[in-house]
Amino acid sequence: MCSELFSGSNTGINFEKYDDIPVEATGQNCPRHIESFQDVDMGEIVMGNIALSRYTRPTPVQKYAIPIVKSKRDLMACAQTGSGKTAAFLLPILSQIYTDGPGEALNAAKASGQPPSPKLINIYSLRPCVVYGGADIGQQIRDLERGCHLLVATPGRLVDMMERGKIGLDHCKYLVLDEADRMLDMGFEPQIRRIVEQDTMPHKGVRQTMMFSATFPKEIQILARDFLEEYIFLAVGRVGSTSENITQKVVWVEESDKRSFLLDLLSATGKDSLTLVFVETKKGADALEDFLYREGYACTSIHGDRSQRDREEALNQFRSGKCPILVATAVAARGLDISNVKHVINFDLPSDIEEYVHRIGRTGRVGNLGLATSFFNDKNGNITKDLLDILVEAKQEVPSWLESLAYEHQHKSSNRGRSKRFSGGFGARDYRQTAAGGNTGGFGGRGGRNQTGHGGTRGFGGGEDLVFSYN
Ligand code: AMP
Repeated sequence: MCSELFSGSNTGINFEKYDDIPVEATGQNCPRHIESFQDVDMGEIVMGNIALSRYTRPTPVQKYAIPIVKSKRDLMACAQTGSGKTAAFLLPILSQIYTDGPGEALNAAKASGQPPSPKLINIYSLRPCVVYGGADIGQQIRDLERGCHLLVATPGRLVDMMERGKIGLDHCKYLVLDEADRMLDMGFEPQIRRIVEQDTMPHKGVRQTMMFSATFPKEIQILARDFLEEYIFLAVGRVGSTSENITQKVVWVEESDKRSFLLDLLSATGKDSLTLVFVETKKGADALEDFLYREGYACTSIHGDRSQRDREEALNQFRSGKCPILVATAVAARGLDISNVKHVINFDLPSDIEEYVHRIGRTGRVGNLGLATSFFNDKNGNITKDLLDILVEAKQEVPSWLESLAYEHQHKSSNRGRSKRFSGGFGARDYRQTAAGGNTGGFGGRGGRNQTGHGGTRGFGGGEDLVFSYN
């Protein structure tokens, strides 16, 4: 079972380029970053799993985040999917759980007269549970009733469970908000505040809180201010999108020619390679899947009208290579970790550059080599300038027609500059560092960068952990 879990991942990693990604850590008494997993003791179990996962060295976000989380500091990290951020928070959290044991949660279970779950006693069998919408709630409840140390939840379904009295958050020690910007984009802020601020979850400063977000707009800054205590801010240079390990091609294709162009691309792609095709609408996804199917291609699709079960089924078929072509809408494909996508095709380009960056980040994951091809025509005028900037930044070939178009476009709307979010190759900057940063939450200026010395003296008693994700 173990060998199945750990097989097949992380081949062809091109760390030479990946290692150059800049990371900036700010905030008071920032713990020193590590260079190798051996620089920090996360205990036998976690270290063993790192070896089994064949993670030979930490990714840039891991080098910084692991010691920060281990020192019990709150963390706001601007890092993308694909940067290794999941392991960056999960490994040190798991290590802490194994070290501290279930603590208060076990006492609470005893006090309430519940027979203590053997799982709670045997710290080696840590129980994770998932709670997400679109799947059978009864099954999820039954699973929870067997005990849970680590909960991965979407905000809507979690609120539902709390209101049914199926989940109490009294003993939550670690709170992680992953892809926080996407959760807010999807309108989950009321649910997130309901969970974190209006129930029994321990307050900030008592629990340890980590937030991850690709960008750091105003709404996320406010959430960080409200949820985090004296946090370290990490800005991780963008990976995937700008790195040269993704070859980005932009081709001019009229709407009416898109299908035949796609067939040409697919026939040029190796049979074993996974190809992800992005379209704008659910209807478009269905229509294209039908078309490809009729043309003899083994393909599948995911979009917002598909049930969770159908999506999982489609994903499994894709991952396993049974259907090596996946047609997807942007929302449905967010956050997916499909590590060996060779080719991302923007059949329909998105209207904003962040979405473009996010999509092409599905290929070239953690240093693997990838290809992204985008069909461009008159409809895509609004993305011209940003797209050009991205191509230049990533040292990609820029078609001359795109350059002229961007030039025309800039002169038409001279006040429209490049997206500030991407300045300096980072997803964002620590707003506490700027004079206009508003409430500094007790941080004056630039805190000691990469310094050691946080005592980590908060007395956590043990309990549950909560990881939010949006999809
Ligand atoms: P994430 O950014 O968390 O979505 O991770 C992207 C992918 O990177 C996942 O498939 C991880 O298994 C993989 N990964 C994470 N950390 C490492 C590492 N240190 N070495 C190699 N692969 C990694």
